[in-house]
Amino acid sequence: MSTQALEQNTAVAAAWSKRPLIISGPCSAETEEQVLETAQRLAATGQVHALRAGIWKPRTRPGSFEGVGTKGLPWLQQAKKLTGLPTAVEVATAKQVEDALHFDVDILWIGARTTVNPFSVQEVADALRGANVPVLIKNPINPDLELWTGAVERVAKAGISRIGLIHRGFSNYGNTEYRNAPMWHLAIEMKRRNPEMMLINDPSHICGRRDILLDVAQKAIDLDFDGLMVESHIDPDNAWSDAKQQITPEVFADMLATIVWRKEDVDSAEFHSHLEKLRQQINHIDDELMQLLGQRMKVADKIGEYKRNNAVTILQTNRWNEILERAYRKGDALGLSKEFVTRYLDAVHMESINHQNRIMNS
Ligand code: PEP
Ligand code: MN
Repeated sequence: MSTQALEQNTAVAAAWSKRPLIISGPCSAETEEQVLETAQRLAATGQVHALRAGIWKPRTRPGSFEGVGTKGLPWLQQAKKLTGLPTAVEVATAKQVEDALHFDVDILWIGARTTVNPFSVQEVADALRGANVPVLIKNPINPDLELWTGAVERVAKAGISRIGLIHRGFSNYGNTEYRNAPMWHLAIEMKRRNPEMMLINDPSHICGRRDILLDVAQKAIDLDFDGLMVESHIDPDNAWSDAKQQITPEVFADMLATIVWRKEDVDSAEFHSHLEKLRQQINHIDDELMQLLGQRMKVADKIGEYKRNNAVTILQTNRWNEILERAYRKGDALGLSKEFVTRYLDAVHMESINHQNRIMNS
């Protein structure tokens, strides 16, 4: 391996192990000047570990800017030379993988529109065979964890050992607050299935607009994501793609400084034993609550029998009002919100009605 290749590998390994891993750069590489200035301003923040830039842009509709193509790759090489930042590019075909690797791109990512298509993912995976490059895989545009998992498996089978996940939200029809609905539970489930795999959040494509980027990024950090990929541009309003969601490198640096960074875990034994004791208390209380709920249902069964024998209705409105009133008063004194008490009692009441129904119709 040449000294240059060795240095490249070391720089990428260092970036890949950063937590939180912060990747930023323009949606699209537009001109050499734009790429170099963005890279330098991002590097100057001292908070960014890799430079992203779209070279081939998968646009939903034809006619908009589809990326500068291969001629932009030397600009990224130059940006890396100037700043030391490893570079990241989206690839969707075998030819794009070859070109990106030929021009020493350090990290590749598979875009949301590619992850949905097993043929495309397989083509990319086959082209990756033998390459020692980390690959990030965005969630598919539709909320389907099997497709996301399938893409991970195809890339892993091609021998790629450093694989990360990017959560960029899911397409939805009609206007909502988000360009792509975050559906956080899907990202959490993907993390549960792949506990060792890096999961980073892309608030730019979730939000589609600047004003809520911070909220989404903070939420991701609160949910223990491993990093962020955020689009930045030297002149966001005039960006050739995704103008509404891009921010300047300096605004991004402010955003990073505003985020409250949390750690999932602390190493100290004292912290762990303290937490463990509290968790055991929670388990114990949960067990007791279950026992009590089971007993409550047994009483409900008895009431059901009694009502059946006397031919009266299950629902007695006065009694239900009385239960609610009592519970609100007690709940209030215990610091339980009215909303929670209502939902809790509704659930218990429904279960109780189902029990009585079974008895009365048996
Ligand atoms: C991008 O990162 O610029 C991009 C096209 O993203 P996605 O695949 O998430 O739409
Ligand atoms: Mn974009």
